[in-house]
Amino acid sequence: MELTSPKVIKQIAEQFDFGFSKGLGQNFLLDPQVLDKIADAADIDDGVLEVGPGFGVLTKRLCETGKKVVSVEIDKRLIPVLDFTLAEFDNVKIIEKDILKTDVKALIDEEFDGKRISVAANLPYYITTPIITKLIEEKLPIKNIVVMVQKEVAERIAAKPGKKDYGAISVLCQYYTNPRLVTIVPKGSFYPAPKVDSAVLCMEVQDKPNVEVLDEKLFFKVVKSAFAQRRKTLLNCLSTGFSCPKEALSELLLGIGIEPTVRGEKLGLSEFAKIADALKTQGLA
Ligand code: SAM
Repeated sequence: MELTSPKVIKQIAEQFDFGFSKGLGQNFLLDPQVLDKIADAADIDDGVLEVGPGFGVLTKRLCETGKKVVSVEIDKRLIPVLDFTLAEFDNVKIIEKDILKTDVKALIDEEFDGKRISVAANLPYYITTPIITKLIEEKLPIKNIVVMVQKEVAERIAAKPGKKDYGAISVLCQYYTNPRLVTIVPKGSFYPAPKVDSAVLCMEVQDKPNVEVLDEKLFFKVVKSAFAQRRKTLLNCLSTGFSCPKEALSELLLGIGIEPTVRGEKLGLSEFAKIADALKTQGLA
């Protein structure tokens, strides 16, 4: 069954009286080369977790690797469709659940014996950031996360300091993972076609974060404050974020070699770490 054929997709939709839900981000991938790129980047060893199988086009490609595939789908109307489209495979398990309400750690323990798995998904765009944040912040046994997201989101996550796309989400993702853009996917490669282009992003999860900090929560508060008002200087942003007098903050920043008038978007991970550690050791946060 050729799930990359729009004709077949329409036939299946008709057979199961299935209407595509915009609200659930149901834009199904049609490009077989992109499926290969996702499967290759996922570099599956001990199994793969998929989010949102849809009609199963990516699930099928993942099953073809011979590794165990567990796929979490929120839309119960898709369960009988997936039973039909994936009937030839015995290495797949579909779980009907909202990924955001799923205990992924328990799932990995139960389904993969806690081994380090890969994640592969063509993500529903309305919850891209919460899903990625959940997967990287929960410190799960995941080796890499390969996801299709809106092109702009992929560019933001992979952006380096000083670039216009660089922001709090770039720092968050680059703290836990090494992200890279795998390929751009035009909107015409989906059925139904979304309004914007997409990109496949591969985030290699690191054994330990890419920078060491004394207090992770504080580090992320510094990052959030620094990007909260993009046109303001770092000094102003931190002074607002930490309700701290500017004189003391200015002295702290100069003491660690950071210009108080710089904008947050110029700072890399190690500079944010230095600021957070200095705030902690000097008792300002
Ligand atoms: N994997 C298929 C493909 O590549 O064609 C479908 C991808 S489609 C962009 C997103 C899928 O995620 C849909 O099947 C949708 O029902 C499902 N989905 C949406 N929200 C979800 C959630 N919170 N948890 C799990 N699946 C979800």
